[in-house]
Amino acid sequence: MTEFSTRHDFEAGDLRDRFRIPLGPDGEDCLYLCGNSLGLQPASTSDAVNAELERWGRLGVAGHFDGPVGWMDFHRPIADALAPLVGAQANEVVAMNALTVNIHLMMASFYRPTAERRRVLMEKGAFPSDRHAVISQIELHGYSGAEDLVELAPRRDGLLHEEDLEDYLERYGDQTALVLWPGVQYATGQVFDMERISRACRRAGVTLGLDLAHAVGNVPVQLHDWGVDFAVWCSYKYLNAGPGAVAGCFIHDKHVNDEMPRLSGWWGHERATRMKMPPDFIPSRGADGWQISNPPILSLATLPPSLELFGEVGIDRLRAASTAMTGHLATKINEELGDRLDIVTPLEPHRRGCQLSIRVREGQQQGRALFERLEAHGIIGDWREPDIIRVAPAPLYNSIADCDRLVSAMAKLFP
Ligand SMILES: *Cc1c(COP(=O)(O)O)cnc(C)c1O
Repeated sequence: MTEFSTRHDFEAGDLRDRFRIPLGPDGEDCLYLCGNSLGLQPASTSDAVNAELERWGRLGVAGHFDGPVGWMDFHRPIADALAPLVGAQANEVVAMNALTVNIHLMMASFYRPTAERRRVLMEKGAFPSDRHAVISQIELHGYSGAEDLVELAPRRDGLLHEEDLEDYLERYGDQTALVLWPGVQYATGQVFDMERISRACRRAGVTLGLDLAHAVGNVPVQLHDWGVDFAVWCSYKYLNAGPGAVAGCFIHDKHVNDEMPRLSGWWGHERATRMKMPPDFIPSRGADGWQISNPPILSLATLPPSLELFGEVGIDRLRAASTAMTGHLATKINEELGDRLDIVTPLEPHRRGCQLSIRVREGQQQGRALFERLEAHGIIGDWREPDIIRVAPAPLYNSIADCDRLVSAMAKLFP
């Protein structure tokens, strides 16, 4: 879990040249602030994918075992590189499938409802896919999504409070089977005190799964030390592994000897005997044992180029640069546009990551018009109905100067 970094100083945007920057309508580099949705492509990604195409062409089936990164073990160095980003041991992490698929696989193992204890607690306003997955899992067990999914509402400030989750678990913990909580809320950008949430779950004897879609590569996370039971994330947001990239999954080592059910496939079978094709399933120890199929190597190949950049800087150094940059942006917005824009994201550094969610006070029409004008000027954020513009300066490739450019463009382009 120790992190070695080869850089001693890092400022936001220092690795910009290692990414491909899309062009704006004027033919110049656009101002890309959408890494919370789809991160940019590292310049070395296409070579990495081509290398596997080339190995396939040259080696055929021998590519499975050829060299240190034969396809048989292709996912292992990826787990090594992911582990420090989520504060895990490498055996607790695996890159596989897609995010929502992994929610289902984890719930197949970790959501074991009984008549007395069957509720799932989530946040109200969760990303729809998570909610669909949870309701369908509850119903798969013959219970009712309408009754057994509990959605904790934000307070008047629009934010979710850890204290409310604690209160809920104190009162209804004995009826609750699982808490599925985000590390960072996708709409507001709020970062949660995941350690505190994990403590509350353990106190109540409730399983905790974290969805780190907006947290991984954004804020440091310590899944192992916090005792989180499982976590899932996607790799196309801050991890820059490209559209539909192979997602990630964490299963805490404390469960390594649990005899829990799982949805099995041959790739989860222990490596030593997998190719002998035995009829009975013996799981690999650790997160590898939840793999089902042999992984899509051409897709996995996009992960190492980006993870190398994270490894070069180190998540703590990256986070420091990010905190400073987003803080600078928030201050400028409040100073120069505070009469027209409200930042929904909490401003305390430990409660926000890269992303700011900005409400346009004049409402949907003006907001949408501003957003479209920004886009026409090569400034790419994203729009959330009814009145929110999300921008996420990503410290690997965005800089303080980018934030200044955004604020002056907003001031100029307001309808
Ligand atoms: C981005 C995101 C998803 C997307 O799900 P996929 O299975 O990757 O398509 C799901 N949940 C959350 C919280 C997200 O932020």
